[in-house]
Amino acid sequence: MVALNLISNSFMKNNLFLLFSFLFCSTTLFSQTYITNVNVADVENQKILPNQTIVITNDLITTVKSSKKVKIPENADVIDGNGKYIFPGLTDAHIHFFQNGGLYTRPDAIDLRQFMPHEKDLNYAHNNMENVLHRYLQNGITNVIDVGSNKKFLKQREGFKDNLNIPSIYMTGPLLTTYEPNVYVNLKDEEPFSLVTSVEDGISMVKDQLPFKPDFIKIWYITTADGLGIEASARKNLPIIKAIIDEAHKHNLRVAVHATQRIPAQLAVENGCDFLVHSIDDEIVKDDFVQLLKKNQTFLCPTLTVSHGYMDTFGQRITKSNYELSKADPYQLGSLLDLKHLKDTLRINRYKNMANSEERIAALNKADSISYMNLKLLSDAGVNIATGTDAGNIGTLHASSYLAELKAMSESGMSNWQIIRASTINGAKVLDKEHEFGTVAVGKKANLILLDANPIDTIENVTKLNLVINNGKTFNPNELIKDSPEDLAQRQLNAYNLRNIDAFLEPYDDDVEVYSYPDTLLFKGKETMRTGYSKMFDNTPNLHCELVGRISQGNVVMDKERVQMGDNIVEAIAIYHIENNKIKKVYFVR
Ligand SMILES: [Zn+2]
Repeated sequence: MVALNLISNSFMKNNLFLLFSFLFCSTTLFSQTYITNVNVADVENQKILPNQTIVITNDLITTVKSSKKVKIPENADVIDGNGKYIFPGLTDAHIHFFQNGGLYTRPDAIDLRQFMPHEKDLNYAHNNMENVLHRYLQNGITNVIDVGSNKKFLKQREGFKDNLNIPSIYMTGPLLTTYEPNVYVNLKDEEPFSLVTSVEDGISMVKDQLPFKPDFIKIWYITTADGLGIEASARKNLPIIKAIIDEAHKHNLRVAVHATQRIPAQLAVENGCDFLVHSIDDEIVKDDFVQLLKKNQTFLCPTLTVSHGYMDTFGQRITKSNYELSKADPYQLGSLLDLKHLKDTLRINRYKNMANSEERIAALNKADSISYMNLKLLSDAGVNIATGTDAGNIGTLHASSYLAELKAMSESGMSNWQIIRASTINGAKVLDKEHEFGTVAVGKKANLILLDANPIDTIENVTKLNLVINNGKTFNPNELIKDSPEDLAQRQLNAYNLRNIDAFLEPYDDDVEVYSYPDTLLFKGKETMRTGYSKMFDNTPNLHCELVGRISQGNVVMDKERVQMGDNIVEAIAIYHIENNKIKKVYFVR
């Protein structure tokens, strides 16, 4: 009896302790944010609900109601949503962390390893991963799906598990493929491809990825590398493709397939593929294909812009929007222009001629128009479309390329609501996580974007970000990534080389002073600069500034430049003084 008494006493004490600690925890960890009088996007029913109040409790949405029906407690954390629009956070359903988006990132497409060892590019990708994630969040992208990663990145992802300041990361392991480009062989944990030569291989390579906890399995279904035609090649490898899909499904893993031609795409879907990560660009799909995708609830990600990234870079005809010039990783974007000065002119000219040849341009245009027509057709028929950029590929920069992809989807004829659904709820559905995120609804994760304008009016408005809310935490997008003095120097250099006067002037202070070293004032003020540089951009053929070297200390950046202007080459040093995140003074040493 005594013993029992003791037990029940201690049981009581423990329970009280638990109760108190729960109360204590709940008061310290409990956080609530009210977003009042806001226009809420109902992406499933395609309508905007005006005058709503949203309550976010910790990382979840706990109330979405007419503002009249919600009482705001005193001292509550309130965000005034008046005149603003709240949408679910965006998903990029097709990216690759192992690629940086710059010129040196795909040595199988253009081998420039003599200028940049592949290992160095991969190290950049790893060291820069958190920065890339912040860049996604800065652009309202709260979920990213890497469909083709490697084991080292799967391991690196573990380190981000408790980080609330980054988007949610979903990832496959290496691409299972029946053809592997030579440059990737023997990279071990860094290998983005696993060569599969038999059904047994396929099964064992799915199992091999399991300890690294991929979210699904990716197949690179490449045809004709074996010298056969598309159909013969696709059918020859089909037993392997089927075995991989079956094995992945056994382990409850969905399967994403790269297939850009109708025949392998159809074979993949008939055999259980869950997610086609590209458009069909070789023929207009027929109704049986559309019905197959509908019946199987297959997802399709159109990736309309990625091939332009390659061809515009190789053809040296890059144009980037001001948005991209201000949001992209400035060094990766800048590297795309290196073809203008790298010394391997034989190879570079071969690529330039190829990309600018009539046949190539005609082929790209044809693939585009087929992809656009297929997208419109599939989307209108009710096939699940998910937005994805294929970011990381040459010319398709992480996060900043999302807008160009949305605009291309819009050009295909998709409505803005269809595009928004593809970018939100369908991104969640790809992962079978629509019960967790993808809509502005009670019980969903508070991954949201607060916009100053309505993207249903014009899709560019997804960039009018007032706030990004990730796991219930509120971020000012401008604070997520701040340009360093070197970043500013690089941004104006990129815009100079693209002759984009507005983007060029953007990093400069309104009262900028430009000197000839040491102290001769050449001119003052951004507007004077605009007149002079606009004229120069318009009238100078063959303009290109190569950065030969850069050093920096504190707020001073020194660039050694070699500038091609027409037939002349000018060598100079530019010294940039940065104050309050703008270039305040420039000294040219000639
Ligand atoms: Zn891809």
